[in-house]
Amino acid sequence: MPEYEAIIGLETHIQLNTTTKIFCSCKADSWFDPPNTNICPVCTGMPGVLPVLNKAVVEKGVLLAAAMHATVQMVSYFDRKNYFYPDLPKGYQISQYDMPLARGGYLDLPMPDGYVRRVGITKLHIEEDAGKTKNEHGRRLIDFNRCGVPLVEMVTGPDLRSADEAAQYLIRLRQLLRWIGISEADMEKAHLRCDANVSIRPKGADYLNPKTEIKNVNSIVAVKEAIEKEIKRQIQETGAGRKIEAWTLEWDEEAGVLRKMRSKETEADYRYFREPDLLPVRLDEPWIADILAGLSELPLERRKRFTEQYGLPEYDADILTGERSLSDYFEAAVKAYGSDPKRVSNWLMNDVLRMINEKSLAASDLKLKPFYLAEIIKLVDAGTVNTSTGKALLEKVEASGQTPSAIVQAEGLARVSDQEAIRSVCAEVLAENPEQTASYKGGKVTLMGWFVGQVMKKMRGKADPQVAKAVLEDLLGK
Ligand SMILES: [Zn+2]
Repeated sequence: MPEYEAIIGLETHIQLNTTTKIFCSCKADSWFDPPNTNICPVCTGMPGVLPVLNKAVVEKGVLLAAAMHATVQMVSYFDRKNYFYPDLPKGYQISQYDMPLARGGYLDLPMPDGYVRRVGITKLHIEEDAGKTKNEHGRRLIDFNRCGVPLVEMVTGPDLRSADEAAQYLIRLRQLLRWIGISEADMEKAHLRCDANVSIRPKGADYLNPKTEIKNVNSIVAVKEAIEKEIKRQIQETGAGRKIEAWTLEWDEEAGVLRKMRSKETEADYRYFREPDLLPVRLDEPWIADILAGLSELPLERRKRFTEQYGLPEYDADILTGERSLSDYFEAAVKAYGSDPKRVSNWLMNDVLRMINEKSLAASDLKLKPFYLAEIIKLVDAGTVNTSTGKALLEKVEASGQTPSAIVQAEGLARVSDQEAIRSVCAEVLAENPEQTASYKGGKVTLMGWFVGQVMKKMRGKADPQVAKAVLEDLLGK
């Protein structure tokens, strides 16, 4: 049997985080609202209504196109995509077809095992969403809240070669969407939806075989699992001498299996034609410049800069640029700390990130501001507090919003290196433990650690252990 490789392309639908829908003034996000509460005659397709394009949808679309290195088209058109389905009250979806908002572009995927996969984008367009159908107690219920919610549809070329790469594409895309602030990109809330086109061919061949389309996968884990299963199925079918047919498959999350939905529609089935109720979208240079003024350094660029400018390992740079506010936080903390960026990275990744995750906050929402983190690291560096007190300070600052130094002073947390204070506690420890003192003097010098521990315990961890050890050795006559 020949060795096969998988050819995968992804179609993603991205829900834009605009306040209102694409062609009317209804609220766009209905996640927490009861069914059919954010609707009007426009988005429910009543006769005689006219759509009005939401400018913010075009602007967010242009922003994404630029972030994907795509070419924005100065003129694009809306088209009607006709199909009949209960959750599509107009009988057509307003979309873009042959003259989309942007063309071309790519996203680079740094893969965990070292290589970079470049995934080309063939088309990027804006469109409205359809409603939602739900089967409950033997009835079919329709929620129109989602009708007219703005989407960007983005189609990749057949450039992905494994289920892992497909998962990585979604991870990087989600990161980018949140980074540029155009979508919450939460797959569980269907802000980011994905259909996968999968085919196989003998390794090294340059032709494409018929593909199947997998629909209804709503998590990155599910995308990976569904694609893996489909690749396996196609290899088995081909091995058994059967042909792969262009089916549309539905992923059944609970059963973990793919089911055949229908034979795939062709584009001719949709009878596309220009939307007569909307003008073409015309962009001009000043408007585009205005939109792109809000586009900052992109995640992969910042990741690269962190390794070069701060000398961070790629692992650190990747985690710190996972989210924009975290990467801003890191840079502000390094600036306030004034030296060793890796030390800041360690504190951030080990302790601050845990706090962020536990409280499900963004780094920018912490009361523990970057300069407080820098101050705590400096207190530890200077020996004013020990490391465990420093770590406890992170929580105390976050809980109270007070400065680290104020807390150290108010709670008397500063490390005691005063010889006299330590000496009297050491003497107490020796007096209270005559047996151990005798065996130490008799040669059991390994007891030193135990004595230091007793002193630390009495002084609630605030003694300088080096000083305590020196004093004890002195008292015990070494
Ligand atoms: Zn509406």
